Amino acid sequence: MSDMKIDLDNEIYNVIIERKRTTKNTYIRVKENLDIYVTCNKLTSDRFIINLINDNKSRILKMINIRKKKLAKDEYFYYLGKKYDLVYLNKKGITFGEEKVFVSTDFNLDKWYKKEAEKVFQIELDKMYNSFVYKIPYPSLCIRKMKTRWGVCNVKTHKVTLNLELIKKDIKYLDYVIVHELSHLLYANHSKAFWDCVGDNFKDYKKIRKELKQDE
Ligand SMILES: [Zn+2]
Repeated sequence: MSDMKIDLDNEIYNVIIERKRTTKNTYIRVKENLDIYVTCNKLTSDRFIINLINDNKSRILKMINIRKKKLAKDEYFYYLGKKYDLVYLNKKGITFGEEKVFVSTDFNLDKWYKKEAEKVFQIELDKMYNSFVYKIPYPSLCIRKMKTRWGVCNVKTHKVTLNLELIKKDIKYLDYVIVHELSHLLYANHSKAFWDCVGDNFKDYKKIRKELKQDE
């Protein structure tokens, strides 16, 4: 296997070449990640392949566009309450536009969300902890994807677990869930005293809670 790059209509594509002794013809495919994949005979030259791609440029661009459309279908990107169109590019990393977010086709969104959440959740936890009107132990923070809960509080180990999905929502929801879980450090139940404590630390909590439709 060997690698080349080719410029088609001002976009650079990877050309992956697989040379086989037994292959007589040259085949061109476009992979899901928009790499151009060429299978050919062992003796086929790079020059021949480049010429072949250029001769079939419009057909290959058509294949690329079909792949792009598939990738773009109903794809949105949510970050801190803002919805962006997710656009795939043959460019490394992630770039934010006004209404769009551009990522490479092999970009690991979950990993990126996790890294962002580790920063944002810790800052908000510290903020809500510092303004908390009752004395509570400082909790450790854990972040993971959860199916049915926005947050969990382990009262014994003082560990607050927050749902990674909160990174997609407006920060007020994150702050409410943090206050909710911090209040559990004082009340392990959902008694009136517990809700009074939540209310003392988060004025609008009834509205926010309703919007979140949360399972505690
Ligand atoms: Zn609860």
